[in-house]
Amino acid sequence: IYWNFQQNFDTFGKFFEHIFQKPLTGYQRTWARRFLLSKSFTLVAPTGVGKTTFGLVASLFLALNGKKSALVFPTVSLAQQSFERLEEFKAKIENANTVKILLFNSSMTKSRKEEFEKRFLSCDFDILIITTQFVSKRKDVLSKMFFDLVFVDDVDAILKSSKNIDTLLQMIGFSEDEIEKAFERLRSKNKENGQDTVSNGSKNKGMLIVSSATAKPQGLKPLLFRELLGFEIGRFTFNIRNITNIRIRKRSKEKLLEIINILKDGILLFVNTEEEGKEIVKFLAENGIKIGTTWINFEEEFELFKERKLNVICGVSSYYGKLIRGIDLPDRIKYCIFWGTPSFRFSVDIDKAPRFVLERVFVEYLEEHPKLKEYFKNVENLQTEKLRQLVLKYISEETYNKIVQELFSHLKITDDGKLVIPDVPTYIQGSGRTSRMFEMRLTKGISILFEEDDTVFESLKSRLMFLLDEEWIEENDVELESLIVEVEESRKSRNEDSNIIDI
Ligand code: ADP
Ligand code: MG
Repeated sequence: IYWNFQQNFDTFGKFFEHIFQKPLTGYQRTWARRFLLSKSFTLVAPTGVGKTTFGLVASLFLALNGKKSALVFPTVSLAQQSFERLEEFKAKIENANTVKILLFNSSMTKSRKEEFEKRFLSCDFDILIITTQFVSKRKDVLSKMFFDLVFVDDVDAILKSSKNIDTLLQMIGFSEDEIEKAFERLRSKNKENGQDTVSNGSKNKGMLIVSSATAKPQGLKPLLFRELLGFEIGRFTFNIRNITNIRIRKRSKEKLLEIINILKDGILLFVNTEEEGKEIVKFLAENGIKIGTTWINFEEEFELFKERKLNVICGVSSYYGKLIRGIDLPDRIKYCIFWGTPSFRFSVDIDKAPRFVLERVFVEYLEEHPKLKEYFKNVENLQTEKLRQLVLKYISEETYNKIVQELFSHLKITDDGKLVIPDVPTYIQGSGRTSRMFEMRLTKGISILFEEDDTVFESLKSRLMFLLDEEWIEENDVELESLIVEVEESRKSRNEDSNIIDI
C-alpha cells in the first residue's frame, strides 16, 4: 500500500473540520502540508490567523497515531486556555478518550503538583502543555525526553534565553554534541574546510514547529535552527502567486491558434523540444501570429517581445531554460501556454535514472540544505542507492519513503518502457512568470496546459495541489474573457488609484 500524501492531507483536513466545524484556512493548509511531511518549520503570520489552533489540532492528530507532543506557551494562562480548548476538541472525537493531556500550572495545589510530577517524570502523557519558564526550569528532565513534535507558541519569548534553544533541540532528539558541533560550524566563518562536517540534518528527529507573529531573533544561536533543521526563523518559505491553471485535453494546433488569438499578447509558449517548437512556431507564424523563439537569437527576440513588437515568445521548458528562469517582466508576461507537460522520461530501472531526475525529486530539500545541493553539483550519474544513503543523512527514512512514494504514486509507463514523470518544479517556475509581486500588488496570471494523457496530468495536478494548493479548471468550465479582465485589472498601475486619492 502506497502512502498517499493527498489522502493523508484529506484525512487531516477532515479531522480538523470535524473538531472545529470549519475548514482549514489557506495558511493552515500550507502548514498542514509541511507538518504531514514531518518538516520542522516556522509559522510566520499575524495573530488571529489560526497558528495556535493549528498546533493544538496537530498535536491531537499525532496523539491518535501514538506520537508524543509538547506544547510550549509563553504564559500560564495561555497554557491553561489551550488545555481547555484541547479537552474540548478531544471530546468531539470518538476514540480520543485514551489521549492523555498533561498540563503544568504553577499555581496547582500540592497534591496536584505531586501527581503532575509523577506523571511528568514517567512520561505518562501524549500531549504535554508547559510554559517557557517551565522549559528553563526543567531543562534537565526535558532534554532527556523525546517528542515527535515540539510546538512553541510565540517563539520570541523563548528565544530570549539561548539555553532554551538547546533544550528545544534536545527535546526533538539532537544530542548536546550535535548542537555544539553545529554551533562551532556557525562560529567559524571558514566553511571551505567543512566537507566532512556535513550537517546531520533532521534524521530520526522529531519536528519543531515554532510560531511567531514577528520573529526577528538576534544573535547566533537562533541560526542553529537553520543549521540543524534547515529553516530560518522569520523567513517565508513559500511563494505567493495567483494563477489560474487550465487544462486542454486535445493537443490541437488549431485550438492553440484560437487561444493565442483570444489572449492576444504577453504570452510565453513552452514546448518540450526544439524540433517540436520549430514546427509549432512555423504554423503560428503562417497564421499571422507575431512570435519569437529563444533558440535562434534570444537577446534580440526577447527585446522585441519586451517592446511589444512580438506578442508571443517560444522556448523549451527545462528547469534552467532561458524562459523558465531569470525573466522578470511582471507587467509584460500575463499568460503562459505549455504545449505538453514538462516531463522527464527515463528507463524503468530507477538506478539508471539520470541524476537530475532524482535531483528534482528532492528539490525541496535541496533548497533547504545548501551543502547537499553543493554535493549534487559535483556528482554525475549518482546511483539511487547512493543517493538514498546521502539523503538519509539529512532526513528520516520515513520522510524519504513518503517523498518517493508520493512522487511515484502517479506513474506513467510508455509503450517503449519509459517512465514519465512531470517536471513539476519547471511547471511552477514557468507559470510563475505570469504572477509576481509588482508595485505592491500581486499580478494575476493564466497558465494553459495542453495535455492529452490523463495519468501525466493527474500526477502534475496532485503535485501542484500538494506544493501550492493550486487547482485546475477544465476548458469547458472556463470563461476566458472574464479571466482576462482579472489579469488586466491586477496590472493596472497603482498611480491611477493614488491620483484619484490625491485629488
Ligand atoms: P493565532 O494563534 O494565529 O493568533 P488562533 O489559533 O488563536 O490564531 O485563532 C484565532 C481565531 O481564529 C480563533 O478565534 C480561532 O477559533 C479562529 N480560527 C482558527 N482556525 C480557524 C479556521 N480554520 N476557520 C475559522 N476560524 C478559525
Ligand atoms: Mg496564538
